[in-house]
Amino acid sequence: MKGDLIDLRDRIRARSTTARAEVDAQLERIEIQNPALNAFREVFPAEARDAADRIDSAIAAGSPVGPLAGVPLAIKDNIVTQVGRTSCSSRILEEYRSPFDATVIERLTAAGAILIGKTNMDEFAMGSSCETCAYGPVRNPWDHSRVPGGSSGGSAAAVAANLCAAALGSDTGGSIRQPASLCGIVGFKPTFGRVSRYGLVAFGSSLDQIGPLTHSVRDAALLYQCMAGEDRRDSTSAPHPVEDVLTPIDETPRTFRVGLPVQYRKGNSPAVNDAVARAIDIFQSLGGTIVDVDLPLTDVGISTYYVIAPAEACSNLARFDGIRYGHRATSRAGQDLFDLYAMSRAEGFGREVQRRIMLGTYVLSAGYYDAYYKRALQIRRLIKQEFDGAFSKCDVILGPTAPTAAFPLGGLTDPLSMYMCDVYTVNTNIAGICGISLPAGFDESSGRHLPVGIQLQAQAFAEPILFKIAQAYERVQGGRREVAPKVATKVA
Ligand code: GLN
Repeated sequence: MKGDLIDLRDRIRARSTTARAEVDAQLERIEIQNPALNAFREVFPAEARDAADRIDSAIAAGSPVGPLAGVPLAIKDNIVTQVGRTSCSSRILEEYRSPFDATVIERLTAAGAILIGKTNMDEFAMGSSCETCAYGPVRNPWDHSRVPGGSSGGSAAAVAANLCAAALGSDTGGSIRQPASLCGIVGFKPTFGRVSRYGLVAFGSSLDQIGPLTHSVRDAALLYQCMAGEDRRDSTSAPHPVEDVLTPIDETPRTFRVGLPVQYRKGNSPAVNDAVARAIDIFQSLGGTIVDVDLPLTDVGISTYYVIAPAEACSNLARFDGIRYGHRATSRAGQDLFDLYAMSRAEGFGREVQRRIMLGTYVLSAGYYDAYYKRALQIRRLIKQEFDGAFSKCDVILGPTAPTAAFPLGGLTDPLSMYMCDVYTVNTNIAGICGISLPAGFDESSGRHLPVGIQLQAQAFAEPILFKIAQAYERVQGGRREVAPKVATKVA
């Protein structure tokens, strides 16, 4: 697709442009647009220019270069990089510098990608709007009064505003797919275990996956392919070989079945339901058969997630105590070690993170463990079984990514309504399967022009068919708009 990462890579390789010129152009766009968007937390101009020059020299010399040679990537700030800081958009890690690169960073830079900067996010990836970021909210490039979604909202805004060729995000309950939907781009969450989590600052270790946010489906397939595969440093990474998803991506199956759960229809805005209805027409025109599937546990996904994810988070975040890692309170009021922990954590963590730590501690505590945590694990098994049943009838499950388009900054004030943004995405993580959000048109109500997305979910390790069907849809739907949505406007 014109303007996507693969197109850029091919032009750099054919020497109709240079990596250096493209990096310079991205840096200039970042400089103009980032003050309003706040998508980037940090940018690496010197390192990115050096890397671009090295790629250009290699190409000029006719040396072999990798499949991502010269393309600028933005990285969510919870994926560790030796260059710059990794703050998770939290005060507690404000100055944290990693001594090593995450496995995905090693693999992508080995393939020739250039790291252009780190992107803002909800603090420790907890949120759906990028308003819990300790360094100010991120804004949606389509409308600066709206949220970009979260928690990978900085990555989504950066891609949507053309400030990078593509970006990495992490998805624990929807954090790649929901912001992709709200920003009108592609967001892909791989099957659990497909992409190494080594070097991803852990939130919910049984749910987290790294994935790409891109301009096109084929870009997502390429980045996935470059990152995926077993990693001995992540014991949960899957051992089986990664299939080629990119070469056969245009081979639309002659027949395929699209599952439509009744549970995915209620509570959505009309524009979102229209987008799903249009997708049904598109799949039928492509030779797909629509089948009804039943996912009655859709509604309990959120409550299950809000037991399992905080339980894992409270244990993962215990290391940020001002001693082992993170900000240390300096006030003299702290008399003993306990006070030092308590004060460092109270100063370093924002309100939502504190809420999750308390929730997690509660559901794991003696007397409540069986009633909450154990029960949530039992329901998790039932949710998995429900998906297995549904996938015996279909190849992919179609539905909305999020119930609505982007909402105004400050528009959702109680935690529960924020949590409900992920009603269609959390169960993908709970079941460990894969899912992709695709641009599906716009919500034009109230005179605005806000992207909406659809989601396709597929069985664990069914990435090849998921990408083929997503690609076929994109070909008909037309993908994202070519132009950068909006030039910078001054934020009042
Ligand atoms: N919005 C969800 C949460 O706050 C999901 C976040 C994520 O996927 N990282 O937990």
